[in-house]
Amino acid sequence: MASVIVVGGGAAGLVAAWRAASQGHAVTLLEANGRLGVKLRISGGGKCNITHDGPPKALLAAFSGDQARFLRPSLHAFGNGAVLELLRREGVETYTRENGRVFPQDRPGSAAAVVAAFETLVRRVGVAVRTGARVTALEGSAPRLAALRVGEARVEADHVILATGGASYPETGTRGEVLGWLRGLGVPVKPWFPALAPIPLARPRPAWEGVALRNGELRLCAGPAGRRLAAFAGDVLFTRTGISGPAALELSQAVERARRGGAAWLAHASLLEAPEAVDAALQAEARANPRLRAATWLQRHLPERVVEDLLAEAEIGRDLMLKDLSKGGRRTLVGLVTALPLGAPQPVPLARGEVAAGGVDLAAVDPRTMALRGWVNLRICGELLDLDGPVGGYNLQAAFSTGYAAGTI
Ligand SMILES: Cc1cc2nc3c(=O)[nH]c(=O)nc-3n(C[C@H](O)[C@H](O)[C@H](O)COP(=O)(O)OP(=O)(O)OC[C@H]3O[C@@H](n4cnc5c(N)ncnc54)[C@H](O)[C@@H]3O)c2cc1C
Repeated sequence: MASVIVVGGGAAGLVAAWRAASQGHAVTLLEANGRLGVKLRISGGGKCNITHDGPPKALLAAFSGDQARFLRPSLHAFGNGAVLELLRREGVETYTRENGRVFPQDRPGSAAAVVAAFETLVRRVGVAVRTGARVTALEGSAPRLAALRVGEARVEADHVILATGGASYPETGTRGEVLGWLRGLGVPVKPWFPALAPIPLARPRPAWEGVALRNGELRLCAGPAGRRLAAFAGDVLFTRTGISGPAALELSQAVERARRGGAAWLAHASLLEAPEAVDAALQAEARANPRLRAATWLQRHLPERVVEDLLAEAEIGRDLMLKDLSKGGRRTLVGLVTALPLGAPQPVPLARGEVAAGGVDLAAVDPRTMALRGWVNLRICGELLDLDGPVGGYNLQAAFSTGYAAGTI
């Protein structure tokens, strides 16, 4: 029996502590917050999208190549089925939505029920849970971590598992400081980088707050010619300061990289209507219904609340009839419908991401055990690793799988 300290009582740390104690080790779980699983409680808007349905291969395909290769062994050892079975035995029944996302049965506080289940699990196997215990320093050097500092106290153990999460939503306890300490110890790390976050716009549209653009894709373009750098199909939602919604979150990491690299701008393009088809339809409409207002026509394609502003910006009178539309005006309308320009992004906030990209370099970690290469008693799991999947339950699954591998000592 070995002594094990797990730092971080989130998704990865809870599973790591449960697994290590289940194998007979003496486990202490140190959590900075006053209670466990604070980020888990707000996950999925409080409903907790626990994991994603499907075989390991399909789940891995959601991650980038390096991340998928790294996750393969741990996902096979402790996949979505294993997580759901564990929770089911603790009374958390789940269901799968049409899009493959798995949630606890709908009832108020369903995310809290997931945390309660993990808390029961770790306490049942004898984990000593210490909340309000923020680790403030790591002591030692490769190949051995000598101790941890928790305020004035110095804590030692045979094995230390770091599961301190990412650097987004710092109010949930994840300030990301451990990555800096590891870098100081010579561990290869990639700096934190924003991901799955809303995108502020240089020219926000506060009057459009709450408006959704559907049936399209968000495009990231560069230069005046609009070279397409990346795109993501899905809804876009206007916020007071910019855009959010599935497509904005998924594209946010690429947007921030492009923004830092130079000029980049965004557009929302219709996937239903090609420019030539829209132009032909507009001309046909003008012949069949010459007195139709341009504004009325535009409202068929774009949300009512945005139409007036767009027409004013294009200097097209709101009462202008299709018969009086110039060739240039027609081109403008077709352009707005097929690729609505959203302008340049502002810095994407790391703090508002559902996940933080960056973390401990995967090449420095054994993917079967989560042991840090060159160290004999230090393991890393969860979002502290350089892992970031898309929205859909992938990030929690990655935390559960890597936590399980780290706890298998
Ligand atoms: C708003 C929001 C919604 C999300 N929804 C989903 C979802 O529905 N599905 C999904 O798959 N993913 C979701 N995610 C992502 C997911 O929550 C994280 O990827 C996951 O929680 C990472 O697990 P973790 O255990 O690595 O880190 P965390 O769950 O963040 O846990 C880390 C813990 O370590 C503690 N800690 C940090 N530093 C120290 C220290 N120095 N000393 C002691 N303790 C420390 C923190 O207080 C924290 O409790 C969401 C994220 C956010 C922000």
